[in-house]
Amino acid sequence: MREKRPAAECGFSGRDYCATTGDGMDDCIFCKIVRGEVPSKKVYEDDEVLGFHDIRPLAPVHFMLVPKKHIASLAEAGAEDAGVLGRMLTLSGKLAREQGSPEGFRTIINSGRIGRQDVMHLHIHVIGGPEPLGAMLSKPNV
Ligand code: ZN
Repeated sequence: MREKRPAAECGFSGRDYCATTGDGMDDCIFCKIVRGEVPSKKVYEDDEVLGFHDIRPLAPVHFMLVPKKHIASLAEAGAEDAGVLGRMLTLSGKLAREQGSPEGFRTIINSGRIGRQDVMHLHIHVIGGPEPLGAMLSKPNV
């Protein structure tokens, strides 16, 4: 049984929990959302995938798609996860249109420490709206 670690210990900030390994399902906020223990504003649900609004939206449309199965990150996904990951990606266009982003959108999957993943349960951010998004990665000084 894995111990709960303070967020500061694993290099994440702004959260009071940390689930750094694939067996962290008890602590995992997205597993709690999947189980209905933490409320969310759902945009989609089927047997394998849950979609819900980000609590801190970066744009008029900003929701997340997560596999109901706990997969810690894309860096740890395996061949057995190809089906659910494909389903998440192919749902994103339909859901983005339904949510008010009719002419495209941006998907972001942050993975691990380098990718600044904040919740260690694989999630796809789907971000958009009626107007084009700004750049989200700043370029080095030129
Ligand atoms: Zn989880």
